Amino acid sequence: MRAEILTIGDELCRGEIVDTNSSYLAQRLWDLDITTRWMTSCCDDENDITTALDQAVNRAELVVCSGGLGPTEDDLTVDMVARLADSDVIIDEESRRRMEKVFAGRVPVTDIQLRQVRVPEKARVYLNPAGLAPGFEASIRGVPVVCLPGIPRELHAIYDAHLEARFKTLRESRGNVERIARRIYRVFGRGESQISQACRGLVDGVPGASIHYQVKFPETLVKLVVRNHDEAAANAALAELDRGISARLPGLVYGTGDTNLVDKVTRRLIDSGRTIATAESCTGGMIGELLTNMPGSSASFKGGAIVYANHEKIRQLGVAQGTLDAHGAVSEETVVEMARGARGRFGVDLAVAVSGIAGPEGGTPDKPVGTVWLALAHEGGVTTKKLGWPGMRDQIRTLSAWWALRMVDERLEAEGARGG
Ligand code: ATP
Repeated sequence: MRAEILTIGDELCRGEIVDTNSSYLAQRLWDLDITTRWMTSCCDDENDITTALDQAVNRAELVVCSGGLGPTEDDLTVDMVARLADSDVIIDEESRRRMEKVFAGRVPVTDIQLRQVRVPEKARVYLNPAGLAPGFEASIRGVPVVCLPGIPRELHAIYDAHLEARFKTLRESRGNVERIARRIYRVFGRGESQISQACRGLVDGVPGASIHYQVKFPETLVKLVVRNHDEAAANAALAELDRGISARLPGLVYGTGDTNLVDKVTRRLIDSGRTIATAESCTGGMIGELLTNMPGSSASFKGGAIVYANHEKIRQLGVAQGTLDAHGAVSEETVVEMARGARGRFGVDLAVAVSGIAGPEGGTPDKPVGTVWLALAHEGGVTTKKLGWPGMRDQIRTLSAWWALRMVDERLEAEGARGG
């Protein structure tokens, strides 16, 4: 089923507000196997709205609009839709009663106020659980056109209350519906180009299958989609491709679905009862910040030391002056002592340490910008990792923090910790 989303408003077209309604609606439609083929925005202008609606019903099988349902003169959606639907405009009595109840004699129900409860006479009305202006669905040349208030909170409330079920019905009424089996793989540890190279040809010859890449630095989302009118066939093809992904990206897929590495690791730590502390130099507290994002993380995160200066590495974590003199602050030897020191001082199961050169200054020929050493101290010893990614300062720091979490994740995996 092909859908078009039309968002209406001058503020949108001037760039004063970001069109989050379109992305919200497109995601919800995609969850229902309805593909948004076009997203359009236009101004609060009679001609523009009419033209946009006309174009939308010419090419889409479902049109979802947001905005322009308010009480002011520039709220034109109801009138334009009614004109194209060949319908009069009426007051929705139920919404009027709700308005009177809300105003309860304190605010007069004027003609201006009543403008926001107007709907095309022939429309199906969707009461607004979070506001006054109802949504509605009209039919223009046989195409359902659903109109919703622009305020995101109200749009979401109407969607949840009425539209999920309605869109499913609309989709089924078309018969022979195309099913979309899909899975998102969360990949960390290689760049997009290396990942796409590894996956090259994976979907070739699989009917209806496609693969998509989305960089969400520092990770990449790999999305597999299989379209088929036979749901079982779509699922079977996806299961086959799933095995292919694991083989092509060994050790790089840390999860599937919506849970990112930060949430996965924090959840695992909490659920498994493991405690953790941090010793951070170039990340300056970022790892601690990530590990405390989730409510309840105090059960696992005990504390951290931000030890930018060498004397703080010595004072707070017990790193030996001799180690720093012999190997430098950015070295395997130093991060190992930092991690051991943090594990002992905070009395935790796991301690992660990082020391590196985030740049743009400070690089040397043998330790260029992007050289980062990480260490994870645990019951069985200390695991280390060296990074050498030549990026910008903020990217190097973010990447380092995520690698620290990835090391924790791998350790928890090895220990058989629950969660994730
Ligand atoms: P109102 O009763 O406020 O007039 P409305 O349905 O007429 O509601 P608009 O006037 O178009 O909606 O927008 C109201 C507010 O909703 C905007 O000021 C903006 O904050 C938000 N909004 C509108 N459209 C969008 C959109 N596409 N994405 C995100 N927010 C939006």
